[in-house]
Amino acid sequence: MYNLENLTIKVPEEAGWILKNLREAGYEGYCVGGCVRDCLLGRVPEDWDITTSALPFEVKSLFCNTVDTGIQHGTVMVIRNGNGYEVTTYRIDGEYKDGRHPEKVEFTRSLEEDLKRRDFTINAFAYNEESGVVDMFGGIDDLNHSLIKAVGNPDERFSEDALRIMRAIRFAAQLSFEIEENTYQAIQRHAANLANVSMERIRVEFEKTLLSKNPDMVRKFFEMGMGNYIVPGFEEACRDFDEKLAFCLTDERTEDKESRKYLLLAIFLKNLSYEEARTAMRLMKYDNKTRDLVSAIIRYKEEPFMEDRVSIKNALNTMGLTVFQLTMAFKEAVGKRDENAADLQLIQKIKELVQDIMKKEEPYSLAQLAVNGRDLMDAGVSQGMEVGKTLEKLLAVVIENPTANIKENLLKLL
Ligand code: ATP
Ligand code: MG
Repeated sequence: MYNLENLTIKVPEEAGWILKNLREAGYEGYCVGGCVRDCLLGRVPEDWDITTSALPFEVKSLFCNTVDTGIQHGTVMVIRNGNGYEVTTYRIDGEYKDGRHPEKVEFTRSLEEDLKRRDFTINAFAYNEESGVVDMFGGIDDLNHSLIKAVGNPDERFSEDALRIMRAIRFAAQLSFEIEENTYQAIQRHAANLANVSMERIRVEFEKTLLSKNPDMVRKFFEMGMGNYIVPGFEEACRDFDEKLAFCLTDERTEDKESRKYLLLAIFLKNLSYEEARTAMRLMKYDNKTRDLVSAIIRYKEEPFMEDRVSIKNALNTMGLTVFQLTMAFKEAVGKRDENAADLQLIQKIKELVQDIMKKEEPYSLAQLAVNGRDLMDAGVSQGMEVGKTLEKLLAVVIENPTANIKENLLKLL
Protein backbone atom coordinates (compact mmCIF):
# COMPACT_ATOMS: atom_id res chain seq x y z
CA MET A 1 0.00 0.00 0.00
CA TYR A 2 1.25 3.49 -0.80
CA ASN A 3 1.22 5.95 2.00
CA LEU A 4 2.13 9.60 1.46
CA GLU A 5 4.11 9.88 4.69
CA ASN A 6 6.99 7.61 3.82
CA LEU A 7 7.36 8.02 0.08
CA THR A 8 10.77 9.04 -1.20
CA ILE A 9 11.88 8.90 -4.79
CA LYS A 10 15.34 8.57 -6.19
CA VAL A 11 15.62 11.45 -8.63
CA PRO A 12 18.45 11.34 -11.21
CA GLU A 13 21.39 13.55 -10.29
CA GLU A 14 20.77 15.98 -13.18
CA ALA A 15 17.07 16.43 -12.38
CA GLY A 16 17.98 17.03 -8.72
CA TRP A 17 20.48 19.66 -9.83
CA ILE A 18 17.83 21.45 -11.94
CA LEU A 19 15.34 21.43 -9.04
CA LYS A 20 18.00 22.80 -6.67
CA ASN A 21 18.88 25.65 -9.05
CA LEU A 22 15.22 26.58 -9.47
CA ARG A 23 14.71 26.58 -5.71
CA GLU A 24 17.79 28.66 -5.00
CA ALA A 25 16.61 31.25 -7.52
CA GLY A 26 13.30 31.50 -5.66
CA TYR A 27 11.12 29.35 -7.93
CA GLU A 28 9.21 26.16 -7.31
CA GLY A 29 10.23 23.04 -9.22
CA TYR A 30 8.93 19.47 -9.17
CA CYS A 31 9.33 16.22 -11.02
CA VAL A 32 5.89 15.59 -12.42
CA GLY A 33 3.56 13.12 -14.11
CA GLY A 34 4.60 9.75 -15.45
CA CYS A 35 8.03 9.66 -13.80
CA VAL A 36 6.60 10.02 -10.29
CA ARG A 37 3.89 7.45 -11.06
CA ASP A 38 6.45 4.97 -12.39
CA CYS A 39 8.77 5.41 -9.40
CA LEU A 40 5.91 4.74 -7.01
CA LEU A 41 5.07 1.60 -8.99
CA GLY A 42 8.68 0.44 -9.01
CA ARG A 43 8.88 0.88 -12.80
CA VAL A 44 11.74 2.59 -14.58
CA PRO A 45 10.47 5.97 -15.93
CA GLU A 46 10.86 6.57 -19.67
CA ASP A 47 11.67 10.22 -19.10
CA TRP A 48 11.75 12.76 -16.28
CA ASP A 49 9.60 15.86 -16.72
CA ILE A 50 9.99 18.91 -14.55
CA THR A 51 7.31 21.48 -13.86
CA THR A 52 8.13 24.93 -12.48
CA SER A 53 6.68 28.26 -11.46
CA ALA A 54 9.46 29.99 -13.45
CA LEU A 55 8.46 31.44 -16.81
CA PRO A 56 10.27 30.10 -19.89
CA PHE A 57 12.53 33.16 -20.17
CA GLU A 58 13.37 32.81 -16.48
CA VAL A 59 14.31 29.15 -16.99
CA LYS A 60 16.48 30.16 -19.93
CA SER A 61 18.27 32.84 -18.01
CA LEU A 62 18.95 30.45 -15.15
CA PHE A 63 20.51 27.64 -17.20
CA CYS A 64 23.06 28.37 -19.87
CA ASN A 65 22.59 25.17 -21.87
CA THR A 66 18.98 25.01 -23.09
CA VAL A 67 17.02 24.18 -26.24
CA ASP A 68 13.61 25.65 -27.09
CA THR A 69 11.82 22.36 -27.71
CA GLY A 70 8.29 23.64 -27.18
CA ILE A 71 8.63 27.19 -26.05
CA GLN A 72 5.10 28.16 -27.21
CA HIS A 73 3.76 25.57 -24.73
CA GLY A 74 6.19 26.68 -22.05
CA THR A 75 8.73 23.89 -22.47
CA VAL A 76 12.48 24.45 -22.44
CA MET A 77 14.90 21.55 -22.52
CA VAL A 78 17.75 21.93 -20.06
CA ILE A 79 20.88 19.98 -20.97
CA ARG A 80 23.03 18.64 -18.15
CA ASN A 81 25.84 16.07 -18.53
CA GLY A 82 24.68 15.45 -22.08
CA ASN A 83 21.13 14.56 -20.97
CA GLY A 84 18.08 16.69 -21.79
CA TYR A 85 15.32 17.38 -19.26
CA GLU A 86 12.08 19.07 -20.30
CA VAL A 87 11.28 21.91 -17.93
CA THR A 88 7.73 23.24 -18.43
CA THR A 89 6.18 26.29 -16.83
CA TYR A 90 3.02 25.66 -14.77
CA ARG A 91 0.21 26.19 -17.22
CA ILE A 92 -3.53 26.11 -17.74
CA ASP A 93 -4.53 24.57 -21.07
CA GLY A 94 -7.21 26.15 -23.22
CA GLU A 95 -9.57 24.03 -25.25
CA TYR A 96 -8.09 21.58 -27.78
CA LYS A 97 -10.22 22.83 -30.69
CA ASP A 98 -8.66 20.49 -33.25
CA GLY A 99 -8.03 17.70 -30.75
CA ARG A 100 -4.31 18.22 -31.37
CA HIS A 101 -2.98 21.18 -29.45
CA PRO A 102 -4.54 23.37 -26.83
CA GLU A 103 -5.90 26.48 -28.52
CA LYS A 104 -3.90 28.64 -26.16
CA VAL A 105 -1.92 28.03 -23.02
CA GLU A 106 -1.83 30.35 -20.08
CA PHE A 107 1.07 30.34 -17.65
CA THR A 108 0.36 30.35 -13.94
CA ARG A 109 2.32 30.38 -10.67
CA SER A 110 0.04 27.73 -9.15
CA LEU A 111 1.10 24.09 -9.03
CA GLU A 112 -2.49 23.06 -8.41
CA GLU A 113 -3.62 24.62 -11.70
CA ASP A 114 -0.88 22.76 -13.52
CA LEU A 115 -1.80 19.41 -11.98
CA LYS A 116 -5.47 20.00 -12.77
CA ARG A 117 -4.84 20.01 -16.53
CA ARG A 118 -3.32 16.50 -16.45
CA ASP A 119 -5.27 13.52 -17.69
CA PHE A 120 -5.45 10.95 -14.89
CA THR A 121 -5.05 11.10 -11.14
CA ILE A 122 -2.07 8.74 -11.24
CA ASN A 123 -0.42 11.10 -13.77
CA ALA A 124 -1.01 14.18 -11.63
CA PHE A 125 1.66 13.67 -8.97
CA ALA A 126 4.46 16.13 -8.33
CA TYR A 127 7.57 15.42 -6.29
CA ASN A 128 10.50 17.26 -4.82
CA GLU A 129 12.67 16.60 -1.79
CA GLU A 130 11.14 19.34 0.39
CA SER A 131 7.46 18.58 -0.28
CA GLY A 132 7.64 14.84 -0.92
CA VAL A 133 4.89 13.45 -3.15
CA VAL A 134 2.19 16.04 -3.87
CA ASP A 135 -1.14 14.32 -4.55
CA MET A 136 -4.01 16.76 -4.91
CA PHE A 137 -6.50 14.51 -6.72
CA GLY A 138 -6.44 11.22 -4.84
CA GLY A 139 -3.88 9.58 -7.11
CA ILE A 140 -2.38 7.54 -4.25
CA ASP A 141 -5.78 6.09 -3.49
CA ASP A 142 -6.26 5.18 -7.14
CA LEU A 143 -2.78 3.61 -7.29
CA ASN A 144 -3.72 1.51 -4.29
CA HIS A 145 -6.89 0.40 -6.05
CA SER A 146 -5.21 0.01 -9.47
CA LEU A 147 -7.55 2.52 -11.07
CA ILE A 148 -7.30 4.86 -14.05
CA LYS A 149 -9.48 7.83 -13.18
CA ALA A 150 -9.79 11.17 -14.94
CA VAL A 151 -8.80 14.31 -13.03
CA GLY A 152 -12.04 16.25 -12.51
CA ASN A 153 -15.05 15.75 -14.78
CA PRO A 154 -14.25 12.99 -17.30
CA ASP A 155 -16.67 14.28 -19.95
CA GLU A 156 -14.98 17.67 -19.92
CA ARG A 157 -11.52 16.15 -19.95
CA PHE A 158 -12.28 13.88 -22.91
CA SER A 159 -13.97 16.62 -24.89
CA GLU A 160 -10.89 18.83 -24.41
CA ASP A 161 -8.65 16.12 -25.86
CA ALA A 162 -10.05 12.84 -27.18
CA LEU A 163 -6.62 11.22 -27.23
CA ARG A 164 -7.07 10.80 -23.49
CA ILE A 165 -9.61 8.03 -24.15
CA MET A 166 -6.89 6.01 -25.87
CA ARG A 167 -4.42 6.91 -23.15
CA ALA A 168 -6.80 5.51 -20.52
CA ILE A 169 -6.76 2.15 -22.27
CA ARG A 170 -3.02 2.33 -22.86
CA PHE A 171 -2.27 2.88 -19.16
CA ALA A 172 -4.75 0.17 -18.15
CA ALA A 173 -2.87 -2.19 -20.50
CA GLN A 174 0.63 -1.20 -19.37
CA LEU A 175 -0.11 -1.22 -15.65
CA SER A 176 -2.81 -3.95 -15.57
CA PHE A 177 -5.18 -1.39 -14.02
CA GLU A 178 -8.97 -1.07 -14.33
CA ILE A 179 -10.68 2.03 -15.68
CA GLU A 180 -12.86 3.67 -13.03
CA GLU A 181 -16.59 3.44 -13.79
CA ASN A 182 -17.41 7.11 -14.52
CA THR A 183 -14.27 7.49 -16.59
CA TYR A 184 -15.17 4.31 -18.47
CA GLN A 185 -18.64 5.50 -19.34
CA ALA A 186 -17.38 8.88 -20.48
CA ILE A 187 -14.91 7.16 -22.81
CA GLN A 188 -17.79 5.49 -24.65
CA ARG A 189 -19.54 8.82 -25.03
CA HIS A 190 -16.49 10.46 -26.59
CA ALA A 191 -15.19 7.73 -28.88
CA ALA A 192 -16.29 9.60 -32.02
CA ASN A 193 -14.10 12.59 -31.15
CA LEU A 194 -11.05 10.50 -31.94
CA ALA A 195 -11.70 11.38 -35.56
CA ASN A 196 -10.25 14.84 -34.77
CA VAL A 197 -7.03 13.56 -33.26
CA SER A 198 -3.89 13.34 -35.38
CA MET A 199 -2.86 9.88 -36.55
CA GLU A 200 0.65 10.29 -35.13
CA ARG A 201 -0.70 10.70 -31.60
CA ILE A 202 -3.18 7.84 -32.07
CA ARG A 203 -0.45 5.54 -33.32
CA VAL A 204 1.75 6.13 -30.27
CA GLU A 205 -1.02 5.14 -27.87
CA PHE A 206 -2.15 2.20 -30.00
CA GLU A 207 1.38 0.88 -30.21
CA LYS A 208 2.04 1.25 -26.50
CA THR A 209 -1.14 -0.78 -25.87
CA LEU A 210 -0.17 -3.48 -28.35
CA LEU A 211 3.37 -3.75 -26.92
CA SER A 212 2.23 -3.76 -23.31
CA LYS A 213 2.00 -6.87 -21.19
CA ASN A 214 -1.73 -6.97 -21.94
CA PRO A 215 -1.86 -6.68 -25.74
CA ASP A 216 -5.40 -8.07 -25.72
CA MET A 217 -6.48 -4.67 -24.38
CA VAL A 218 -6.60 -3.54 -28.02
CA ARG A 219 -9.99 -5.25 -27.97
CA LYS A 220 -11.19 -2.37 -25.78
CA PHE A 221 -10.74 -0.01 -28.72
CA PHE A 222 -13.42 -2.08 -30.42
CA GLU A 223 -15.64 -2.53 -27.37
CA MET A 224 -15.63 1.17 -26.68
CA GLY A 225 -16.46 1.99 -30.28
CA MET A 226 -13.21 3.76 -31.17
CA GLY A 227 -11.93 1.43 -33.88
CA ASN A 228 -14.24 2.85 -36.45
CA TYR A 229 -12.64 6.27 -36.24
CA ILE A 230 -9.11 5.15 -36.90
CA VAL A 231 -8.53 3.42 -40.27
CA PRO A 232 -10.49 0.86 -42.34
CA GLY A 233 -9.86 -2.63 -41.00
CA PHE A 234 -8.76 -1.37 -37.58
CA GLU A 235 -12.03 -2.07 -35.82
CA GLU A 236 -12.21 -5.68 -37.03
CA ALA A 237 -8.54 -6.18 -36.20
CA CYS A 238 -9.24 -5.09 -32.62
CA ARG A 239 -12.37 -7.24 -32.38
CA ASP A 240 -10.65 -10.38 -33.70
CA PHE A 241 -7.31 -9.86 -31.98
CA ASP A 242 -5.72 -13.27 -31.44
CA GLU A 243 -4.40 -12.83 -27.92
CA LYS A 244 -3.47 -16.48 -27.59
CA LEU A 245 -1.12 -16.09 -30.53
CA ALA A 246 0.32 -12.87 -29.05
CA PHE A 247 1.09 -14.64 -25.78
CA CYS A 248 2.86 -17.39 -27.73
CA LEU A 249 5.51 -14.99 -29.06
CA THR A 250 8.37 -16.44 -27.12
CA ASP A 251 10.92 -17.00 -29.84
CA GLU A 252 14.36 -15.50 -29.06
CA ARG A 253 13.85 -13.03 -31.90
CA THR A 254 10.94 -11.47 -30.01
CA GLU A 255 13.09 -10.49 -27.05
CA ASP A 256 14.32 -7.62 -29.15
CA LYS A 257 11.80 -4.80 -28.93
CA GLU A 258 11.75 -3.89 -32.61
CA SER A 259 11.06 -7.45 -33.77
CA ARG A 260 8.38 -7.84 -31.15
CA LYS A 261 6.69 -4.76 -32.58
CA TYR A 262 6.74 -6.15 -36.14
CA LEU A 263 5.38 -9.50 -35.00
CA LEU A 264 2.61 -8.03 -32.87
CA LEU A 265 1.58 -5.76 -35.73
CA ALA A 266 1.51 -8.78 -38.03
CA ILE A 267 -0.69 -10.61 -35.53
CA PHE A 268 -2.92 -7.55 -35.29
CA LEU A 269 -3.30 -7.31 -39.08
CA LYS A 270 -3.18 -11.00 -39.91
CA ASN A 271 -6.74 -11.31 -41.19
CA LEU A 272 -6.20 -8.57 -43.74
CA SER A 273 -4.78 -9.24 -47.18
CA TYR A 274 -1.26 -8.08 -47.98
CA GLU A 275 -2.61 -5.01 -49.78
CA GLU A 276 -5.13 -4.15 -47.06
CA ALA A 277 -2.47 -4.45 -44.38
CA ARG A 278 -0.18 -2.14 -46.35
CA THR A 279 -2.95 0.40 -46.77
CA ALA A 280 -3.85 0.30 -43.07
CA MET A 281 -0.21 0.89 -42.09
CA ARG A 282 0.17 3.67 -44.63
CA LEU A 283 -2.92 5.43 -43.27
CA MET A 284 -1.55 4.99 -39.77
CA LYS A 285 1.61 6.73 -41.02
CA TYR A 286 3.95 3.88 -40.24
CA ASP A 287 7.47 4.23 -41.62
CA ASN A 288 8.50 2.25 -44.71
CA LYS A 289 10.61 -0.27 -42.84
CA THR A 290 7.73 -1.26 -40.55
CA ARG A 291 5.32 -1.43 -43.48
CA ASP A 292 7.67 -3.62 -45.51
CA LEU A 293 8.59 -6.03 -42.73
CA VAL A 294 5.07 -6.46 -41.35
CA SER A 295 3.48 -6.93 -44.76
CA ALA A 296 6.22 -9.42 -45.68
CA ILE A 297 5.36 -11.52 -42.61
CA ILE A 298 1.72 -11.38 -43.68
CA ARG A 299 2.64 -12.44 -47.21
CA TYR A 300 4.82 -15.39 -46.19
CA LYS A 301 3.08 -16.63 -43.07
CA GLU A 302 1.05 -19.26 -44.96
CA GLU A 303 3.88 -20.47 -47.18
CA PRO A 304 4.78 -24.11 -46.55
CA PHE A 305 7.88 -24.97 -44.56
CA MET A 306 11.05 -25.85 -46.44
CA GLU A 307 13.30 -28.18 -44.59
CA ASP A 308 16.19 -28.95 -46.89
CA ARG A 309 19.29 -26.83 -46.97
CA VAL A 310 18.99 -25.73 -50.60
CA SER A 311 15.35 -24.64 -50.29
CA ILE A 312 16.20 -22.72 -47.13
CA LYS A 313 18.96 -20.86 -48.92
CA ASN A 314 16.63 -20.09 -51.82
CA ALA A 315 14.08 -18.74 -49.35
CA LEU A 316 16.77 -16.66 -47.62
CA ASN A 317 17.67 -15.25 -51.02
CA THR A 318 14.08 -14.27 -51.82
CA MET A 319 13.00 -13.09 -48.39
CA GLY A 320 16.21 -11.83 -46.81
CA LEU A 321 17.39 -13.03 -43.41
CA THR A 322 15.29 -10.62 -41.30
CA VAL A 323 11.98 -11.43 -42.97
CA PHE A 324 12.84 -15.14 -42.90
CA GLN A 325 13.51 -15.09 -39.17
CA LEU A 326 10.47 -12.97 -38.39
CA THR A 327 8.27 -15.32 -40.43
CA MET A 328 9.69 -18.33 -38.58
CA ALA A 329 9.00 -16.60 -35.26
CA PHE A 330 5.41 -16.00 -36.37
CA LYS A 331 5.02 -19.64 -37.44
CA GLU A 332 6.55 -20.80 -34.19
CA ALA A 333 3.95 -18.82 -32.23
CA VAL A 334 1.21 -20.42 -34.36
CA GLY A 335 2.72 -23.85 -33.64
CA LYS A 336 2.70 -23.12 -29.90
CA ARG A 337 -0.85 -21.77 -29.96
CA ASP A 338 -2.07 -24.92 -31.76
CA GLU A 339 0.18 -27.21 -29.72
CA ASN A 340 1.40 -28.64 -32.98
CA ALA A 341 4.44 -30.65 -31.93
CA ALA A 342 5.32 -31.75 -35.46
CA ASP A 343 5.45 -28.17 -36.77
CA LEU A 344 7.46 -26.99 -33.78
CA GLN A 345 9.98 -29.75 -34.32
CA LEU A 346 10.28 -28.82 -37.97
CA ILE A 347 10.76 -25.14 -37.10
CA GLN A 348 13.48 -26.05 -34.63
CA LYS A 349 15.23 -28.04 -37.32
CA ILE A 350 15.00 -25.16 -39.81
CA LYS A 351 16.36 -22.70 -37.24
CA GLU A 352 19.34 -24.95 -36.58
CA LEU A 353 20.00 -25.28 -40.31
CA VAL A 354 19.88 -21.48 -40.74
CA GLN A 355 22.33 -21.06 -37.88
CA ASP A 356 24.65 -23.58 -39.48
CA ILE A 357 24.40 -21.85 -42.88
CA MET A 358 25.32 -18.56 -41.22
CA LYS A 359 28.15 -20.07 -39.20
CA LYS A 360 29.68 -21.65 -42.29
CA GLU A 361 29.06 -18.45 -44.24
CA GLU A 362 27.43 -20.40 -47.06
CA PRO A 363 26.40 -17.95 -49.78
CA TYR A 364 22.69 -17.55 -50.56
CA SER A 365 22.49 -14.11 -52.17
CA LEU A 366 24.00 -12.31 -55.17
CA ALA A 367 25.93 -10.02 -52.83
CA GLN A 368 27.84 -13.04 -51.52
CA LEU A 369 28.69 -14.44 -54.96
CA ALA A 370 32.42 -14.44 -55.77
CA VAL A 371 31.73 -12.73 -59.12
CA ASN A 372 29.73 -9.63 -59.95
CA GLY A 373 28.24 -8.12 -63.10
CA ARG A 374 31.47 -6.32 -63.97
CA ASP A 375 33.43 -9.61 -63.88
CA LEU A 376 30.91 -11.21 -66.24
CA MET A 377 31.08 -8.34 -68.73
CA ASP A 378 34.87 -8.44 -68.62
CA ALA A 379 34.56 -12.13 -69.44
CA GLY A 380 32.45 -11.30 -72.50
CA VAL A 381 28.85 -11.65 -71.31
CA SER A 382 26.82 -9.01 -73.12
CA GLN A 383 25.53 -6.16 -70.99
CA GLY A 384 21.89 -6.11 -69.76
CA MET A 385 19.48 -8.96 -69.10
CA GLU A 386 22.09 -11.57 -69.91
CA VAL A 387 24.28 -10.52 -66.99
CA GLY A 388 21.44 -10.76 -64.49
CA LYS A 389 20.35 -14.16 -65.75
CA THR A 390 23.89 -15.50 -65.65
CA LEU A 391 24.42 -14.26 -62.09
CA GLU A 392 21.21 -16.01 -61.02
CA LYS A 393 22.38 -19.25 -62.64
CA LEU A 394 25.76 -19.04 -60.91
CA LEU A 395 24.05 -18.33 -57.61
CA ALA A 396 21.93 -21.47 -58.09
CA VAL A 397 25.15 -23.45 -58.58
CA VAL A 398 26.70 -21.96 -55.45
CA ILE A 399 23.57 -22.50 -53.37
CA GLU A 400 23.77 -26.21 -54.30
CA ASN A 401 27.49 -26.33 -53.76
CA PRO A 402 29.05 -23.60 -51.58
CA THR A 403 32.62 -24.72 -52.30
CA ALA A 404 32.10 -23.67 -55.94
CA ASN A 405 32.07 -20.01 -54.88
CA ILE A 406 35.53 -19.16 -56.22
CA LYS A 407 35.93 -16.53 -58.91
CA GLU A 408 38.05 -18.59 -61.37
CA ASN A 409 35.74 -21.55 -60.93
CA LEU A 410 32.63 -19.57 -61.69
CA LEU A 411 34.19 -17.83 -64.70
CA LYS A 412 35.19 -21.23 -66.06
CA LEU A 413 31.55 -22.34 -65.79
CA LEU A 414 30.59 -19.59 -68.23
P1 ATP B 1 5.09 7.40 -20.54
O1 ATP B 1 5.51 6.39 -19.55
O2 ATP B 1 4.53 6.77 -21.76
O3 ATP B 1 6.08 8.48 -20.82
P2 ATP B 1 3.62 9.52 -19.25
O4 ATP B 1 2.50 9.50 -18.28
O5 ATP B 1 4.92 10.08 -18.78
O6 ATP B 1 3.79 8.06 -19.84
P3 ATP B 1 3.78 11.47 -21.32
O7 ATP B 1 3.08 11.44 -22.64
O8 ATP B 1 5.25 11.38 -21.25
O9 ATP B 1 3.10 10.32 -20.48
O10 ATP B 1 3.29 12.80 -20.59
C1 ATP B 1 3.82 13.26 -19.37
C2 ATP B 1 2.72 13.78 -18.48
O11 ATP B 1 2.04 14.85 -19.13
C3 ATP B 1 1.63 12.77 -18.13
O12 ATP B 1 1.98 11.96 -17.04
C4 ATP B 1 0.45 13.68 -17.85
O13 ATP B 1 0.55 14.25 -16.57
C5 ATP B 1 0.64 14.79 -18.86
N1 ATP B 1 -0.04 14.52 -20.14
C6 ATP B 1 0.47 13.96 -21.25
N2 ATP B 1 -0.42 13.89 -22.24
C7 ATP B 1 -1.55 14.43 -21.75
C8 ATP B 1 -2.84 14.67 -22.30
N3 ATP B 1 -3.15 14.32 -23.56
N4 ATP B 1 -3.76 15.28 -21.50
C9 ATP B 1 -3.46 15.64 -20.24
N5 ATP B 1 -2.27 15.44 -19.67
C10 ATP B 1 -1.32 14.84 -20.41
MG1 MG C 1 6.68 10.34 -19.92
